[in-house]
Amino acid sequence: MKRRRVLILGGGCAGVSAAWALSSTPQSRRRFDVTLLQSGWRLGGKLASGRNSAASMRNEEHGLHVWFGFYDNAFRMAREVLDAWEKPPGCPIQTLDDMLVPHAYTPVGIAGPQGYRVWDVQFARNRGGLVASTLATSIGINLVAADQYLSIVVPGRMYRPAYIKMGLDPKNLSRCMEDGGTITSPLIPWNSCGAYMFATLGVFPLAYLPFAFLNLINPLISLIYGYTGWTMTPLESNESESSEIENIV
Ligand SMILES: Cc1cc2nc3c(=O)[nH]c(=O)nc-3n(C[C@H](O)[C@H](O)[C@H](O)COP(=O)(O)OP(=O)(O)OC[C@H]3O[C@@H](n4cnc5c(N)ncnc54)[C@H](O)[C@@H]3O)c2cc1C
Repeated sequence: MKRRRVLILGGGCAGVSAAWALSSTPQSRRRFDVTLLQSGWRLGGKLASGRNSAASMRNEEHGLHVWFGFYDNAFRMAREVLDAWEKPPGCPIQTLDDMLVPHAYTPVGIAGPQGYRVWDVQFARNRGGLVASTLATSIGINLVAADQYLSIVVPGRMYRPAYIKMGLDPKNLSRCMEDGGTITSPLIPWNSCGAYMFATLGVFPLAYLPFAFLNLINPLISLIYGYTGWTMTPLESNESESSEIENIV
């Protein structure tokens, strides 16, 4: 087969990713003859950084320095490159953890008439945090959307990939949605569930709330399970789950 010649202009992330995709396997190397041109001496584009010897060897960079957790393709490609790279002896970069520092915080800003409003967003870093986030989301949706079904459907779709990524069977998520969503909905007077109770039993939800022990205690028990790991079922990989993980990781 005649090798097709490919010329890539620019050695930023886009250029080097294209070069990697076209040359990382023996089959692709048989098909493509890739040349990458970069003006100047430094590869990396805005991902590049360097030490300034005139200023205490400080690290200087221009641009990209945050990789979000959903950069699935970038993480996958970086792992492939690290596996394929024959590292020189003593090289300080051996794994992805040597290149990137995990971070669980980001500010999110929304532009408005008075300028930007900025929220501090913390991501769940561990199993307990994930369970706490699920419970808080389910209870929050019950309060805001006033509908029990939304308090189950929304966290279910939102958190399933995170549970799988953390090696937890999705049935843990199912229990959290039950403990955070289903069971708290009758305690909220303006929720469809609370309104139904009031209409059929004639008792205002806030009147029975102090005595609804199961509904009040269950989210706390779920939280304890999340932080201790007790009764949390690990993910058993079967074919469908593993292909799902493949798509997520
Ligand atoms: C201040 C700043 C902060 C950012 N922070 C983030 C972040 O935290 N997270 C994130 O995901 N993204 C971030 N971005 C965006 C990110 O940097 C870009 O999306 C990304 O670098 C684009 O990659 P690229 O390969 O298309 O272009 P570049 O990285 O710009 O690479 C282009 C390359 O082409 C070379 N080139 C240009 N013309 C020629 C030519 N004629 N011949 C040969 N070579 C040429 C350039 O020298 C350069 O090396 C940030 C951007 C900026 C400016």
